[in-house]
Order: sequence, then C-alpha cells, then structure tokens
Amino acid sequence: MKKALFAAAAFAVGFGSAAYAEGLKIGVSWASFQEERWKIDEAAMVAAIEGAGNTYVSADAESSSAKQLTDIEALITQGVDALIINAWDKDAIGPAIEAADNEGIPVVGYDRLIEDERTFYLTFDNIGVGRIIAETVKAVQPTGNYAIIKGDPGDPNAMFLLQGMMEVIGGDVEAGKIKIVGEAFSDGWKPENAQKNMEQILTANDNKVDAVLSENDGMAGGVVAALSAQGLVIPVGGQDGDLAAINRVARGTQTVSVWKDSRDLGKAAGEIASALAAGASLDSIDGAVKFSGGEKGIEMNAILLSPTPLTKDNLNVAIDGGHISKEQACEGA
Ligand code: BGC
Repeated sequence: MKKALFAAAAFAVGFGSAAYAEGLKIGVSWASFQEERWKIDEAAMVAAIEGAGNTYVSADAESSSAKQLTDIEALITQGVDALIINAWDKDAIGPAIEAADNEGIPVVGYDRLIEDERTFYLTFDNIGVGRIIAETVKAVQPTGNYAIIKGDPGDPNAMFLLQGMMEVIGGDVEAGKIKIVGEAFSDGWKPENAQKNMEQILTANDNKVDAVLSENDGMAGGVVAALSAQGLVIPVGGQDGDLAAINRVARGTQTVSVWKDSRDLGKAAGEIASALAAGASLDSIDGAVKFSGGEKGIEMNAILLSPTPLTKDNLNVAIDGGHISKEQACEGA
C-alpha cells in the first residue's frame, strides 16, 4: 500500500485535502472502443479526473486480453496512483489486479465485473438491463419463438443480462408460451457475429422467429440486418442508447434500447478513482453497497446505477437529456 499510505500520511500531517489530492495520475485501461458508448464514458471520465486536479492517462487494449495486461503494466510503470479497468476478459485480467495490488495501486473495475475484493465495482444494474429488454419485448410479443443473441462469453455482463432476461421469460418458457429457438454468444460483441448467429437461427427455424433479445445495440444492428434481408420486422430489444439504435426505435425496427447514461458512469469513475488515489479506502465510497452476485460469490464494494428504457413513447428523454438531437433520433421516421 505504498502510495495510498503516502497520501494518507500527507493528509495526517496537515496538507489540505485539495493540496494532497491534486496532481495525481489516474490510469485507465480500456477493453476496446468498438461501441460508440465508450467514447462518451471516456469524455465524462476525463472531465471528472481533470476537474479533481488530476491527470488522465489511458491505453486501449483493442479487444486483446494480452495487450490489456501489457497496457496495465505500462500504466503502472508510468506511476499511476489509481487504475480504472474496463476488463476485456474476466479471467485473463487476474495478473493485472495482482500487479496493481503489489504496488498499492487501487483499482476500479469499470462497467464489467472483475471479481476480486481488491477492486471497486462500478457499473449499471446489468441484470436490470436484461430484465427491461425482456419485459419491453414481451409486452408486445408475449408468446412465440424467441432468439437470444448474447455478447462475449468473457464478459460477465453477458451472463447478468441473460439472467435478467430469464427472470422475465423463464416462467413463460416453462409454461410453453415462449420457446427459445436459438441462443448464441457473439464473440467480441461483434455486430457481424451477431448477424451470422441470427442468420443461422432464422435458417434453422424456417424464419419462424417472433422476437429477439439482443444483449446490446451494436448486435441488434446485426440482427436487424439479418431480419430485413428476409423481409422480417419483429420485436428486437437491445441496450446502450446507440444513436443508430435510437433511430431504429423511432423507425420501428427496434422495440427498445436500454440507455445507460455513460456520462454518469464515467463521471462517477473519475471521482471515485480520484478519491482512492488520494487514499480513500474501498469501503468508504459514498453510496456504495455490497455486491456478491458474481460467479464466485465474492463480496465487493460496488455502485450500480439505474438504466433508462428508450421506446418510441419516450425518446424525448434522450433528446432532452442532450444525448441525441431530435433530427438524428427521428431521421427517416
Ligand atoms: C457493456 C455494454 C457494451 C458491451 C460491448 C458490455 O460490458 O455493458 O454496454 O455494449 O460490453 O462493449
């Protein structure tokens, strides 16, 4: 705990908190910038870190767990005082947490669970997101053949989203009202993999699919491409509030996009990392709860923000919230 102790000691000998808390370096390791949301997260994070008088340094692992490890080593070598890690792979990230801990560098696990009590878990309620996707789609398509397009298996969010979806439709599946006719992971959360998965599910079922639960908007784009190639328009749910997805919602080819306002998550991460860098302990963060819903059941300090469903009926929420312009949202609708 070298650095954290140093910061705490400086505070104890009477430097004002602003004096010792400024001038720290916050290192951010991104998994990939494939989805448009991450640039929004990043802008808010930079603003919060710089607003606290600290410096933002970052690296993009470009969808590689090996690169993410070397990125984090390099950030540690640069002397960061706290790390924010958006993990590409839940298991491969382990050595990075070990290395940070050896140097006394606190870690915020960003958006994706790093199930290790040495990290602070900051995310949205991902089970809730899955639940909302399923509830909204089920409201318009309460029976029939469902396809589930999952994200990357290395991302715990893929599991949480599925868990939420099954909480909503599990009973209907047991009762025979809803039949899951296809369920597939899409490596790297890639829209093209989602599209291929959807094509295969359509072929295997003679196009008899009535609704699709997609774990994010990028993949929903791939799903809608596969559907429209067959002349199909059916309920499709996704998440992220991607601009193209909101436009699909306006035009009626996507039923819901669950919007997680990344500006809030990025801001919270910048603030929490700045506090941790200045010596705050993981269990002293305002508003934190205990979370133990990961596959190992480890209890962690966490904050889970609430998501907002966007449907045709409330797109003004994203427009008034400054996330998208009315023209972009409604183009062609
Ligand atoms: C995030 C989603 C995102 C996906 C792909 C998930 O962990 O929660 O918002 O679309 O990763 O980047």
